[in-house]
Amino acid sequence: MVRKRLVEITIGAGQRQCHLGSPGFGNLTIALPSVMHERQLMETAAALAWQKIGLSLCWDVVNQITNIPLSLYDRKDRLFWNLSKSGIYTVKTGYVIAKEEKEKTNQRLAPDPETSWEIRKHTVWKTLWSLNIKMKLKHFLWRCLQNGLATNEALYKRFGIGNKICHCCGEDMETIEHIFFNCPTAQVIWKIAPVRWEGLAKLQGNLWRWWEAVLQAAKETQGVGRIQLTANILWQIWKARNKFAFQQEIADAKIIVDKAQQEWIEYEAAKESDTGSNSEPGKATPIQQRWEPPKEGTIRINTDAAISAKMVRSGLGIIARNWRGELVRAKGITARRKGIAATEEALAIRGALEMAQLAGWTTIEVQSDCKHVVSLINTDNVQDCSLQTILEDIDVQKRNFESCTFTFVPRTVNQCSHELAQFAAKATRSFEWEGSFPIWLSSLVRKDMGVVTPFCN
Ligand SMILES: [Zn+2]
Repeated sequence: MVRKRLVEITIGAGQRQCHLGSPGFGNLTIALPSVMHERQLMETAAALAWQKIGLSLCWDVVNQITNIPLSLYDRKDRLFWNLSKSGIYTVKTGYVIAKEEKEKTNQRLAPDPETSWEIRKHTVWKTLWSLNIKMKLKHFLWRCLQNGLATNEALYKRFGIGNKICHCCGEDMETIEHIFFNCPTAQVIWKIAPVRWEGLAKLQGNLWRWWEAVLQAAKETQGVGRIQLTANILWQIWKARNKFAFQQEIADAKIIVDKAQQEWIEYEAAKESDTGSNSEPGKATPIQQRWEPPKEGTIRINTDAAISAKMVRSGLGIIARNWRGELVRAKGITARRKGIAATEEALAIRGALEMAQLAGWTTIEVQSDCKHVVSLINTDNVQDCSLQTILEDIDVQKRNFESCTFTFVPRTVNQCSHELAQFAAKATRSFEWEGSFPIWLSSLVRKDMGVVTPFCN
């Protein structure tokens, strides 16, 4: 397992140097010219800096560098300590890592399988209980991993009752692994499920080991979602197995997968609307379904990002409306890069603040449907080296307003900026409208308000 790099360089205004440690290129330190427009940077960098270090770099590397968002301010590039939330080195985190390293060395010298097994077990339980899934699923998985499910094999082994063969297929002993992986229905399920664990096939003989490996995905992009969906699939397989065992009802593999997916999506949506509202605990508030105008005197700015991986393009959509719901400014930023979702969403928010400052607004509310970035801004929690520069810019920008808030809204509330971002991703260059707007955008805004009488823009 490759450990996350301990120290990275956060690029501020990109004045000093850029450090690349991408696999395949080794570690490369390149002097970057001072703040530049992306295009300029690409050209100058390609022409000068690369020559200077005598390397002919492939475009992948150039892209990696030019895709690093630079600060709007004269911020210095600096080291980012990945083990603390702020990126600043603390003795405590340093001590923890030093201790870990020492333990590892000791283990290598005198391997103690008993200890490592204990640690692994502890990690699996800890991760299971911290998963963002329904409590019933956690209990279910806990029982599975403890070998506590009443499978035919378990009942036969423990109480000497029944037939240990799988009633569904009659082909093998009904162990927990047979139900989840080897029974023909299970095999079809994993073939059609939107989540794949093909690399873990060799671990399917032992559910515990398989699940432990599945949990490793938590560190990957979308990994947590894949684990959550997997938990739902296992649960639905077990439910279908029981339905067959007790009611002789055969469930179709596709229906099992659909149910798992549906339950997962519903749980995620319910959770999102929970955290999206500022309601007092215990007080049920209806889920906000559509855009609502802000308080009088406030400008509400909705932001969104769209990424077209196929076209290697990113689009940012920024829409400002007043308390009457009227469109006052709209901006689309287009970039030729394969953006990373969180970075692009943060850039859209930064773009919104730039627009607001330019327009001279004093009281603004910024809305985004990216919960992750909104919570990073509101909690002052960085934890992400690549986002740090943008988040710090936002922190500086927000002080220019009398009032500046950031809220998460579900996609349904953010439809206009979503459409505008999609439009920007396809556009050939960035654009900004003020006073008069394209008809399609005005009608989207009216639709957002659910108003029959059209506004005059
Ligand atoms: Zn079977």
